[in-house]
Amino acid sequence: MRHECDNCGESWRNDDIKVRFPDIPDLTTRVEPGGTVPSGQCPECGALVYPVILAVLPMLEQYAKDLDQFEKQQELERRGL
Ligand SMILES: [Zn+2]
Repeated sequence: MRHECDNCGESWRNDDIKVRFPDIPDLTTRVEPGGTVPSGQCPECGALVYPVILAVLPMLEQYAKDLDQFEKQQELERRGL
């Protein structure tokens, strides 16, 4: 999994992240209630990093919808409609 820095935009591998959730200093004051949970702290600038998978999820959902639509279309064509 990749992790992207909220501040410098750098992306990191799991092994690169030395300070990880929940061992992030002052975590409660740095994260908004109900906000995305950070995966750790950026080794470069010290800002919070977030798992990149969250940014990919909406794309996956759209892909699933498109695929569903495509299959329905195929089904209609098979029936000759
Ligand atoms: Zn950074």
